[in-house]
Amino acid sequence: MSTLPINADLHCHSVVSDGTLTPEELAARAQANGVTLWALTDHDEIGGQRRAAAAARAAGIGYLSGVEISVTFASETVHIVGLGFDAEDPRMAQGLFDTRGGRGQRAHEIAAQLAAVGIPGAYEGALKYVGNPELISRTHFARYLVEAGFCKDTAEVFRKYLADGKPGFVPHRWASLRDAVAWITQAGGMAVIAHPGRYKLTANEEYALFTEFKAHGGQGVEVVTGSHTPAEYATYAGMAREFGLAASRGSDFHSPDESHTDLGQLPPLPDGLTPVWTLLADRIQH
Ligand code: AMP
Ligand code: MN
Ligand code: MN
Ligand code: MN
Repeated sequence: MSTLPINADLHCHSVVSDGTLTPEELAARAQANGVTLWALTDHDEIGGQRRAAAAARAAGIGYLSGVEISVTFASETVHIVGLGFDAEDPRMAQGLFDTRGGRGQRAHEIAAQLAAVGIPGAYEGALKYVGNPELISRTHFARYLVEAGFCKDTAEVFRKYLADGKPGFVPHRWASLRDAVAWITQAGGMAVIAHPGRYKLTANEEYALFTEFKAHGGQGVEVVTGSHTPAEYATYAGMAREFGLAASRGSDFHSPDESHTDLGQLPPLPDGLTPVWTLLADRIQH
């Protein structure tokens, strides 16, 4: 039995969604960075799960199946991470397929709006960065706008063009919170609220999110993530205790060129929380 502390990184993206590394490259990078328990959590897609699990096994690190589901809650987009589910579950596959369904049309609308503000050819430009034709994302547009010289980095593209209220933003209705949690839990996994500090929710809306999530059977919340400040680690540790939720840790790594937080490099969870991986021990693949 290992006595080393667990270095869990349970949130990142591959070319199967909007990351730039393959599942195999991510597994090797996680292992090199000291990660001992890993999950690949592509947006709305589990097509990389078999490769990720096999690569983790080859690298000698533990693996939990993963996904990050786009949800519409209180007119905001909220992300729900699923961990430790059966990656062959057909209801999960169908739900994610339906969730991905609107992305193609949305991408054409994003491109039309960008063309109207003087940025032509963004659909074709974004497509060059897409690894999975069903998963064209704002991130792919951001990479193209940097390449074409409209912005210096992808963060600037979101600030100027792709965030809510900016010229290239197209509102979209994703899965419901109830459905996303149900797909995960029916497949034997744990639903986790991703990076809660990132949402533009009022205090009342955030309370409603946690309350409804819990009522639907959600069990975890990301406390330590690349999207949180240290002050937010403390805030969401408090929310985990208040709502009786297990705590997760994940970098949300997308790319060596874009992500400020690398795999496995975050601080440990604050004391006194129940780590999600202690509740998922029997779902870990070795
Ligand atoms: P989509 O699912 O197509 O709406 O794209 C959402 C993705 O865009 C997120 O998963 C992030 O990878 C990326 N993203 C969102 N906001 C920002 C931001 N401000 N800076 C950089 N990337 C962002
Ligand atoms: Mn992303
Ligand atoms: Mn997210
Ligand atoms: Mn993510």
